Amino acid sequence: MSSVFDDLIDQEAVIATLKEAVAASKDSANNTQNMTHSWLFTGPPGSGRSKAAVAFAAALLCEKSGCAICISCTSVTDGSHADIELIRTEGLSIKVDEVRELITRTSWSPSVGNYRVVVIEDADRLTESAANALLKVIEEPGARTVWLLCAPTLTDVLPTIRSRCRHLTLRTPSVKAVAKLLIEREGIDPELADFASSAAQGHIGRAMYLATHKEAREDREKILNLTSSITDLASAFATANTLLEMAKEHAGRESKVRDEEELTKLKESYGTSGTRLATGGSRAIKELEKFQKSRTTRLVKNYLDLALLEIQKMFIREFVSLESKEFPLEKSVYFVKAIEQTRETINLNSSHLLIVESLFCKLRYH
Ligand SMILES: [Zn+2]
Repeated sequence: MSSVFDDLIDQEAVIATLKEAVAASKDSANNTQNMTHSWLFTGPPGSGRSKAAVAFAAALLCEKSGCAICISCTSVTDGSHADIELIRTEGLSIKVDEVRELITRTSWSPSVGNYRVVVIEDADRLTESAANALLKVIEEPGARTVWLLCAPTLTDVLPTIRSRCRHLTLRTPSVKAVAKLLIEREGIDPELADFASSAAQGHIGRAMYLATHKEAREDREKILNLTSSITDLASAFATANTLLEMAKEHAGRESKVRDEEELTKLKESYGTSGTRLATGGSRAIKELEKFQKSRTTRLVKNYLDLALLEIQKMFIREFVSLESKEFPLEKSVYFVKAIEQTRETINLNSSHLLIVESLFCKLRYH
């Protein structure tokens, strides 16, 4: 029998808890604390934390507790269910105005299902004032509203928010489980599936992308070869520059078409001529451009993070491999730590080139 939880790979404990909550929610005589109204899903990128939240939402709304095939379930999956608010941000932060609007929108009773479910995919990107605006509704949600927040780790969310939520942690799926998924569900050749899932180290989306995109595999190869060209200060700077250019090119490619389409749509909605475009329109265009810029910055950051993660994993592989005698253990540990710090700094800072340069200068002695 199919279930909305089928897509969660290697998450048996989480699934069991969610199923108990769903069962409790359907049974008015159930006095257990299994069903609560504010949840926080954490888990490393690619573990499927937002998938888990959406599956839970579908199961709460489905008459058969998440059959995956009824109209309710399929409309949750395709994003058209009237009682689900899926908050996904591609920008750098979720602002207080958006949260206030969301709270107003979701204060109505559900229209078709038993609940109105709000899924905030990137609760780590709530600004402090946005998080504060959420506090009250999370503490005392209406009887028919369920809040599902997702973030990479507990520390990414304000303590006041996390203390008001029930917390579930997804683990990194095993390489074997991800390979199995690629083979059985996506029909990927076993050898390629093994390669992609081990390169992606349990990141399901990344594994899928590597398995299905030749250029992504070539890009990864290029990233892994970068550090071998670092021999002195000059080459460290040059390589940092190369990596940043790769990141910008990638982000630019991903943004270009989408940005243009959004701009055209917005302009059309204001009409192509006349005073409306001149007044409200030009402000809206400025806002859109600001949002697009923040989204592109996020894409650059994501690319750099992924690239550094690949390089870090390469050093980890080197120190677990017995053959790397010429590569002393202390050095590997030092590099792995240096990369870890750099990844943290990049997330908080915008002078990307400087940060990568400083890292690559440290790596030049190997
Ligand atoms: Zn269903």
